[in-house]
Formats: sequence, C-alpha cells, structure tokens
Amino acid sequence: MSQSPAPLVPVGIFGGTFDPVHYGHLRSALELVELLQLAQLRLMPCAVPPHREVPACGAAHRAAMVALAVAGESRLVCDDRELGREGASYTIDSLIELRRELGGEHSLCLVMGCDAVLAITTWHRWQELLDWAHVVVIARPGWHLPGEGPVADWLRRHRLADPLQLRQRPNGGILVEELRPLAISSTEIRELLAAGRSPRYLLPQAVLEYIEAHDLYH
Ligand code: ATP
Repeated sequence: MSQSPAPLVPVGIFGGTFDPVHYGHLRSALELVELLQLAQLRLMPCAVPPHREVPACGAAHRAAMVALAVAGESRLVCDDRELGREGASYTIDSLIELRRELGGEHSLCLVMGCDAVLAITTWHRWQELLDWAHVVVIARPGWHLPGEGPVADWLRRHRLADPLQLRQRPNGGILVEELRPLAISSTEIRELLAAGRSPRYLLPQAVLEYIEAHDLYH
C-alpha cells in the first residue's frame, strides 16, 4: 500500500505597497496564518509598483515600518527582496525567486485583497502566477469579486473548495477567504496625517512613532 505524502505546510507571501502598513493588513495576515496554518507569512513591500502612482514614502521607510509592525510575532516576517531589484517590482519575479529558495515541492501561497484580484489581468505575466504559487484572496469590505469576464473565469477554473487542498500540491489553486472586515486603508491614514489629524489606533503605535520621527506623510 502506498503511503500518502506528509502534508505540505504552506508559506504565504503577502505583497503590497504598505504606505504605511496598518491593522487591516496585520490582522488579515495573522488570521490567515492561523486559519490556513501557514508556517510563515511574509509581508513583502513593493519597491516600485508597476501599476500605481509612486508611493508617498520611499521603499526603505515602508519596509522599516513593516519590520516594526511584525516585530514580536514570529509567524509574520518582513520580506524586503523587492528593494534589492532594479526597475518595476513584478510579483512573478519574486515568486520565481521564492520558489527557488523553497524548492519545487513546498506549498507557496500568494495572498492578495479583492482589489488586487480585480486588476490581476494588468499584472505582468499574470497567467503564470499559478505556475509558481497558489493564490489566496482576502474578501475586503466594499469589494466584490466579478461574476463574469476573464477574472471570473480564472477564479472559477482554479477555485479550491477547502484550505486543506493548499497542502496537497505546491501551487495552482485559488482560495477565497472571508476574514474579519476592517475598513482601514493606507490612503485614509495618509489623508488623516496630511490634514493634521491622528490615525492612532488604525496602525501600530511603533509605526506611528516611526512616521512622526521621520516626518513622513506631511
Ligand atoms: P492604499 O490605500 O494606498 O491603496 P491599501 O490600504 O489598500 O493602500 P496596500 O498596501 O495597497 O494597502 O495593500 C496591500 C494588500 O493588502 C492588497 O492586496 C490589499 O487588498 C490588502 N489590504 C489592504 N487593506 C486591507 C484591509 N483593510 N483588509 C484586508 N486586506 C487589505
């Protein structure tokens, strides 16, 4: 009788601008770690976003804020690999790098919010993402997944019914998870700061102190 292989403990990678990181990102990250029993979830600040305006604050500051935010929670890690690459930061390049580090058998999950999924067809080599990782979509307040069109077809074709399926193969599936909705965005935090108002309690105090110490977002 053949033995079933040991379950693969997935590693997650959560890309974003994190301009700045806030409790919407952090709480979602921790809930996913526990729900999917990830070995680790890596928060990966994008150095040069290909599809949006230049971030308000430099990549080194954004990565430093992510590192501060996850300090003390060993299951969350800041992954600053995109800061070391020239040109636009393409997620596919990071997945290929991670795959090389982890090996071909390890389960890898790319985490993204609904807003990111809706724009996925504009991503560089988007149809290859599932060749390197699974995709885990976080349902986000105010956003709905499309019912028709290329994104809907992509979701339907690869959709997984159960988180356990993330452990049965290294890549290729899409899981949609509804987590605690927290209607917090970096845009709102930047607007509060620019208006001289406090974003306190929307993001970690250590991140707010970093923003004040470096006079960011004014
Ligand atoms: P901005 O307001 O500048 O667009 P943001 O708050 O959406 O920023 P990003 O850094 O762009 O943050 O987001 C990184 C990832 O985190 C994206 O996939 C996004 O969908 C997700 N995300 C952002 N805010 C939340 C939230 N409150 N709850 C769940 N996911 C979130």
